[in-house]
Amino acid sequence: MNGNDATLLVVRAAHFAAEKHVGQRRKGENAEPYFNHVADVAVRIAEATEGADAALVAAGYLHDTIEDQNVTHAELVARFGLDVADLVAEVTDDKRLAKPERKRLQIEHAAHASPRAKMLKLADKCSNLTAILGSPPPDWPLLRRQEYFEWAHAVVAGCRGVNPRLEAQFDALYARRGDLALAMTEANV
Ligand code: ZN
Repeated sequence: MNGNDATLLVVRAAHFAAEKHVGQRRKGENAEPYFNHVADVAVRIAEATEGADAALVAAGYLHDTIEDQNVTHAELVARFGLDVADLVAEVTDDKRLAKPERKRLQIEHAAHASPRAKMLKLADKCSNLTAILGSPPPDWPLLRRQEYFEWAHAVVAGCRGVNPRLEAQFDALYARRGDLALAMTEANV
């Protein structure tokens, strides 16, 4: 992909994601626009790969459009090509399954994912841990926040060996899990 095509792909993916997630908010206490999350994932990927993989950055912007906004794989193929669409499909949960089963399958599937899908997963989990530390969902008790950290850690176990920078970011965030209890204590004072 030349530089012009890469620029077009990434800005179109960002725009499409902004439109699709327009009414969606994050679960955190600050209720950030959901787009902030997908932009965060895209930037983490772009930086960790030093801008070398525009399709993966585009997939970062689009990674929740099938799962959360009922966009189809075919629409992503038509707009962004098969490579981007397949990356998004690889990190999409099957919503017909019950949540505990979906969470179990994420752990199982991570180890068999392509190296680029593993990078996407890593960036997604980094973004989510950052969000829980900085703007925790008010209706999540401490145990649920801690369980999310442990589950993310189990998913990431299958994603190691593809990008040391993202792995180091994840490990640094996971190491702060003790802060979860601290934040609750402060909030409850
Ligand atoms: Zn996500």
